[in-house]
Amino acid sequence: MVKTKKFILARQFHGEPQESDLQLIEEELPPLKDGEILCEALWCSVDPCNRLLANRLREGDLMHGFQVARIAESRNEDFPVGKIIVGYLGWQTLTVHDPKTMPPPGFGPAYILPDFGELPLSLALGVLGMPGNTAYFGFLEICQPKAGEVVVVSGAAGAVGSLVGQIARIKGCKVIGFAGSDDKVRWLKDDLHFDAAYNYKKMDVDTALKEAAPNGVDCYFDNVGGVMSSTILSHMNSRGRISVCGSISTYNADPGEVPMVPDNLRPILLQQLRVEGFNVYRWWDRWTEGIEQMKEWVKNQELVYRETVTEGFGNMPKAFIGMLRGENTGKAVVKC
Ligand code: NAP
Repeated sequence: MVKTKKFILARQFHGEPQESDLQLIEEELPPLKDGEILCEALWCSVDPCNRLLANRLREGDLMHGFQVARIAESRNEDFPVGKIIVGYLGWQTLTVHDPKTMPPPGFGPAYILPDFGELPLSLALGVLGMPGNTAYFGFLEICQPKAGEVVVVSGAAGAVGSLVGQIARIKGCKVIGFAGSDDKVRWLKDDLHFDAAYNYKKMDVDTALKEAAPNGVDCYFDNVGGVMSSTILSHMNSRGRISVCGSISTYNADPGEVPMVPDNLRPILLQQLRVEGFNVYRWWDRWTEGIEQMKEWVKNQELVYRETVTEGFGNMPKAFIGMLRGENTGKAVVKC
C-alpha cells in the first residue's frame, strides 16, 4: 500500500498564517484507475495565491499549490512513467491524479514539462512557469510598454516582480522598483540593472518617485495593492497603464476587513488611466510561447533569476510563512 504525506488546513488562517494552522498527516492512496497517474513531488511551490485561496478551504482540506512531480506509475499513455509534470496537485508528496481533472477555477491543467535542457526543473514553478508567464503576458499585454517609458514595479524582488522589471529593461524602458529590504534593493540595482530601486520600509514612496520619476510614470505593474499603490497612482502620467497583478499587502487581512485606501478613482479619471486586473491563465492558449521566450532570455543571460530554496517537504509551512513575510528573493520553492 502506497502512503502519501500531506498538509491539511487544521484551522482557518486568521491574519498571518501560523505553523500550527497546518497539520502534516499520512494517508493511504488507492490503486490507480484507468487514465490516472501516480505523481511523486520533486519541488513544491509556495505562492501568495495559496494564502488568498485558503479562505475558500474548509478545515481538513488539502492545502492548495503547484508542484513539479515525476510520474512514478501510469495508466495513461499520454503521461508515461518517468516524465516530469507541473500541476496544481497541492501540498502532498504523492498524488493519484487524472490529468483530465480540471484544477480549481482559474488554474490550468497539469502538463508535461517542455525540454529545459541544462536548466533546473524547479524553474517550472518560477521563471519558466506560472510566475514567468504572469510577468511576460501580464506586463506586455496590459501595460504595452514603449521604449523610453517609465515603468514602476512593486514587489519588485519577488518571483513575478523581478522578471517584470527585467522585461521592461529588455523593452528599453526606465525601471523603478520597490522592495522590502536593502539586500533586495542592492540585487535589483546591481544584478538586475533597475534604474532605481527603494526599500519601501525605509523610504517614503512619494519622495522616492519625485526623485526617480520627476516626469511621471507611464506603466505600473502592481503586485501589492494598498496604500503603496495609491501613492504610485498619484504619479501616473496621462494615459498611463496599470496592470493589477496582485494585492499581497491585504492577503493576511480577514475578508471584510481589508484596509481602506485613499480615493484611487480620482487619478484614474483625471489622468485617463487604463487599469486592468488579470488572471494569467487567460493566456493558457499561449502558455508555451511565454515559456519559450523566457527560456531564450535566460539562456542569453538577458534575464537573471533567483530562487529561495527551503529543504524538506516538512518545511512547507515555514517556507510559506517566510514568503508572505518577504524572506524570499526571487521565487520561493521547497525541495521535497
Ligand atoms: P513574491 O513577490 O515572490 O513573494 C511575495 C512578496 O510580497 C514577499 O517577498 C514580500 O516582499 C512582498 N510583500 C509581503 N507583504 C507585503 C506588503 N504588506 N507590502 C508590500 N509587499 C509585501 O510573490 P509572487 O509569486 O511574485 O507574487 C507577487 C504578486 O503577484 C502577488 O500579489 C500574487 O498574488 C500575484 N500573482 C498574480 C497572478 C495573476 O495571475 N494575477 C499570478 C501570480 C502571482 P518584500 O520584501 O518586498 O515586502
